[in-house]
Amino acid sequence: MTRRQLIAAFAAWPVLARQPVQGAAGAPRFSDYPFSLGVASGDPDPTGFALWTRLAPEPLLGGGMPAEDVRVEWQVARDDRFWDVVARGEAAAKHELAHSVHVEVSGLEPGRWYYYRFRAGGEISPVGRSKTAPAPGTTPDSVRFAFASCQHYETGYYTAYEHMVREAPDVVFHLGDYIYEGAGRDGRVRKHTGSEIVELDDYRNRLALYKADPNLQAAHAAAPWVVTWDDHEVDNNYADRISEEPDVAVDDFLTRRAHAYQAYFEHQPLRLRSKPRGHDMQLYRRIPYGDLLDFTVLDTRQYRTDQPCGDKNGPGCGDDRSPDGNLLGDEQEKWFFRTLEDSPAKWNVVAQQIMVAPIDRDPGPDEAYSMDQWPGYRVSQERFLKFLGEKKPSNPVVLTGDIHSNWANDLYEDYAADNPKIVGTELVGTSISSGGDGRQSIEEAKALRDANRCLHFHSRERGYVHCLVTPETLRADYRMVEYVSRPGAPVNTRASFTVEDGRPGLQKS
Ligand code: FE
Ligand code: CA
Repeated sequence: MTRRQLIAAFAAWPVLARQPVQGAAGAPRFSDYPFSLGVASGDPDPTGFALWTRLAPEPLLGGGMPAEDVRVEWQVARDDRFWDVVARGEAAAKHELAHSVHVEVSGLEPGRWYYYRFRAGGEISPVGRSKTAPAPGTTPDSVRFAFASCQHYETGYYTAYEHMVREAPDVVFHLGDYIYEGAGRDGRVRKHTGSEIVELDDYRNRLALYKADPNLQAAHAAAPWVVTWDDHEVDNNYADRISEEPDVAVDDFLTRRAHAYQAYFEHQPLRLRSKPRGHDMQLYRRIPYGDLLDFTVLDTRQYRTDQPCGDKNGPGCGDDRSPDGNLLGDEQEKWFFRTLEDSPAKWNVVAQQIMVAPIDRDPGPDEAYSMDQWPGYRVSQERFLKFLGEKKPSNPVVLTGDIHSNWANDLYEDYAADNPKIVGTELVGTSISSGGDGRQSIEEAKALRDANRCLHFHSRERGYVHCLVTPETLRADYRMVEYVSRPGAPVNTRASFTVEDGRPGLQKS
């Protein structure tokens, strides 16, 4: 049997006695299997989550759908054979949103696994699995999450996700660079189609190319995801309305940004609050997990001032300390600090993109700080670290992606102090595939540790980080695959750290 027949044979789907979705065609004929991009769920809360799919029988060629809305049915069950369906409904796969489907399910039980699937025109989707968040006011014994970033399609396979799925995390975080915008290049492991993406259809086809990857689909189907973006979802090192290329007009760049944001929304399991409005999109948000854990998700791209000092790594030119520099934008920063202050949770995990700690990347006598990361926005960075020192939100742990390498940092209230106070922890996870096959770089790591007293660990391998949170500790395992230039790499735990409740900073475990 083909995959399609197998799914159909497996599925008995009772007919719904309901009004059909207004204006949506109920029984289209697809040129090929329409659920080619899989299914996903995300942004869990105690009674539900967002469900996602997209009808795309020809995913790399604009989707291959007629120019009309199509009715899609969905089901959520307690079991993977759908004997015990607990929620169901209909939604429109809208033509104007590339026939993507976003459903917000509610009314489920907290802290529980569920299964879901879609049906359209007699075709049934693969089955996905998702989990609701714990109930407010309760403290679960443990929550397990994984985080990942930077999955350049051309430079490697997504084997890391195979291993992540086996660990069955309750929730997965993606910290950005979900796609890369560049033109296809020869001589790599895989190849992008077309040139650098600018138009809406380009972004859609690029996202579809990535989403067609079986490892990525399996990881989405295995757990709810909470996604945020970095730069490459739009354009390398862009800042708010300023393109990487200096001669691009603001209006032209905002048009491109609107295309990128819309296509991103169309391909992610986001709630409707994140639906873009023109060239703006609401991505920063809070995801509470009972009294144990609170996740705040930041957007460090959409509201930032331009990178200072020509965006060149170095000691800083003075502009990196300008009071006009602003990484989060006033509104997000206010929301962020208030959310941390009001959080009832024991652990406060901040899912964001770029390194907070001012790590000197030059182990020699010179200094090299990244002007694209928090050190390029010293006033924002110091406000955040001072906030942690003064307001003492409970157990802050920052998750970071972006730089295709692993780092584990203590966060200091004041990096210039002789005996700095540790006010938090930063776990920087490496890329899934960006940069190609990695390496351990033991000598370099030693030199970097000598140059940066806050640094506990560094490596340039590929993989992800798995975290186990209990009321007493947060444990982080850096899970590294041996190679990405061909499929099937085994995984190893390169380093493990714990953070103890009430004691900021890293302990080797
Ligand atoms: Fe990247
Ligand atoms: Ca990046």
